[in-house]
Amino acid sequence: MPTRQPGRAPGTRTERFAVVDPATGEAFDEAPDQQPDELDAVVGRAHEAWRSWRADPVARATALLAAADAVEAAGTDLAPLLTREQGKPLAESYAEIARTAARLRYFAELAPSPQPITDGRPVRSEVRWRPLGPVAAIVPWNFPLQLASAKFAPALAAGNTTVLKPSPFTPLATRLLGSVISTALPEDVLTIVTGREPLGARLASHPGIRHVTFTGSIPTGRAVAEGAAASLARVTLELGGNDAAILLEDVDVERIADRLFWAAFRNCGQVCMAVKRVYVPARLYSHVVEALAQRAKTAVVGAGLDPGTQLGPVNNAPQLARVERYTAQALAAGARAVAGGHRLDRPGYFFAPTILADVPSDSPVVTQEQFGPVLPVLPYGSLDEAVEAANGTGFGLGGSVWGTDLDRAEAVADRLECGTAWINHHAELSLAQPFAGIKESGVGVAGGPWGLYGNLRPFVVHRPEEA
Ligand code: NAD
Repeated sequence: MPTRQPGRAPGTRTERFAVVDPATGEAFDEAPDQQPDELDAVVGRAHEAWRSWRADPVARATALLAAADAVEAAGTDLAPLLTREQGKPLAESYAEIARTAARLRYFAELAPSPQPITDGRPVRSEVRWRPLGPVAAIVPWNFPLQLASAKFAPALAAGNTTVLKPSPFTPLATRLLGSVISTALPEDVLTIVTGREPLGARLASHPGIRHVTFTGSIPTGRAVAEGAAASLARVTLELGGNDAAILLEDVDVERIADRLFWAAFRNCGQVCMAVKRVYVPARLYSHVVEALAQRAKTAVVGAGLDPGTQLGPVNNAPQLARVERYTAQALAAGARAVAGGHRLDRPGYFFAPTILADVPSDSPVVTQEQFGPVLPVLPYGSLDEAVEAANGTGFGLGGSVWGTDLDRAEAVADRLECGTAWINHHAELSLAQPFAGIKESGVGVAGGPWGLYGNLRPFVVHRPEEA
């Protein structure tokens, strides 16, 4: 792969690290383990490239539209590689690539407009939006391309350059994406760096970076904010979620069961805004548990490259260990695995789709983010109790309410303390809408015009009406 390694002293070799196929548990390729001296050079070049990239919005939009075409055209190369390192079914990799191209197009066509300030004074005062400088984008392994594009598409469209660091679990498709996009953009406008820690920490605290936009776990988000504090760079954090789905008394269980199941299990449950706990009226409890368990038992689990696979493996060994630990803790505390509850007896990081009933409410699988194919289902007595439980964690990403009377469901959704509340759906996002977690789930706003303005600063020109 033609990745330049600027800044290395002649004769210095970049070390490489192994990339594992989660469907086999075996290493199948490797990626460069880039070091701080290389990072300094990359950020320096991103700064140089910013001078001309920021200057011409029309050329920028044209280049980003060409980049979107190039991404689409490379789908047949990108998708199998993404599935191989991430584990997801091939069709979902294609969907991720389509979303990446769509996002480039969306932001290419979204231009910030100057805003006059009219406050009655005899002055002409106007806000003109200016880019920030080189942006650091740091992303996790669950949607490597889609989440990367959620960072670089608005950052580049706003006139910034971007240094993007994927997770060391999924560096390969991102590297390929970088070379595909580089055919359409000027050099050093978007640079991919790969490596193990402390590369991310160095990038987040780099003095040449003006905005750190991070997606990942809450503890790492805190470390990123601390690192960026050194240079007082702007910080956007999209962090973990523990979304609750509340079913109402009038819910049509058979009608919503498929949608609810896949809202929890898509991408093997490794979605920040997946349904991670379900609250059900006591009268409907056994019906809902059975409906979900039946789907968990019949979902087709396998390698993402196998046609027909609906659920792939968990992405990596530490994540699989977390899923196993949370499940074991719940079972030891009296929960029942109505489906699954264990690893699959085959190579790779496979865990049986699991529905847990009778889970104590203080079990980590309820209070923390399991981020895997395990779903606790909890009964409730009164609706107030359910809303209080849904809101009763440090997370605040999303939530949903499911019922037949939409007005009533909306009134309950309105009580959820989170960034997005769905009715009879979960985790449906348009490119045009804001996405912002509250509490420990995030700082700042992604998506839509809000995502663009998150990469811009207001610059005010103030002049009198007369000299
Ligand atoms: P993670 O926090 O371990 O890693 C995320 C990224 O940060 C990776 O690229 C990693 O290499 C890098 N990193 C690790 N230590 C760092 C440090 N000290 N400084 C800077 N960067 C560092 O998260 P993960 O396990 O890869 O991803 C799963 C988490 O991401 C879950 O909590 C999930 O909810 C969250 N997530 C959130 C959203 C959202 O939009 N809110 C979307 C997807 C995933």
